[in-house]
Amino acid sequence: MSKIKLITFDLDDTFWDIKNTIIRAEKNSRKWVEKKIGEEIDWGTFEDFIKIRNNLIKKDSSLEYDLGLLRKKIIAHHTKKYFKNKNDLNIFINNAFEYFLKERHKITFYDDVQSVLEELSRKYKLGVLTNGNADINKLKIGHMFDFSISSIDVKSNKPEKNHFLKAQELSKVDFENTLHVGDHPINDILGARKLGIEVMWFNLKKIDWVIDANPPIQFTKWSEFIEIFEINHGY
Ligand SMILES: [Mg+2]
Repeated sequence: MSKIKLITFDLDDTFWDIKNTIIRAEKNSRKWVEKKIGEEIDWGTFEDFIKIRNNLIKKDSSLEYDLGLLRKKIIAHHTKKYFKNKNDLNIFINNAFEYFLKERHKITFYDDVQSVLEELSRKYKLGVLTNGNADINKLKIGHMFDFSISSIDVKSNKPEKNHFLKAQELSKVDFENTLHVGDHPINDILGARKLGIEVMWFNLKKIDWVIDANPPIQFTKWSEFIEIFEINHGY
């Protein structure tokens, strides 16, 4: 029998591709904002976006893990001049953010993610540990998970230990009986490993492990997951 009782998963770039999802959500949100305002807005370059973001975080470090508030502040940065009334501005920002979130949840699962989760959920407790703001309950997979932890819930980002500690608290499963699965060598693999949690690295692009001399167990497509899991951790 497997010693693993709980499997936790990262979301972005582990269950779906995030870059194209965010680019599309961002583009559509900008169009939505301009349509509502009735004017073209100078959004600036990508470098400008990063600068605005970093300045906001410098003023309020909690924005580093509160992605929702960060996004609202960025929307405000671009649109506040169009509103005389602060209340109207706030309503607008909340609506714009809701629109973005809806777009951000238009994801395409990697092949076999859902069927693998379905199978695992019959045998193991499953949890989500994400630094992003995707909500599994807005997708078709929410029912398979026992819990979901975002950065805002634990006021920090992986690889810090708070996501993992919260998972232990909610599941009552020790780290040594937990497996964490994610794409990010540092945030997922090193973060979990440091606490004695077993890991499986989703290495879609088949890149070399260069972090240390101890490459983690890895899989490059979801159809391999169950077999590789069982070879390493038993049934
Ligand atoms: Mg990820």
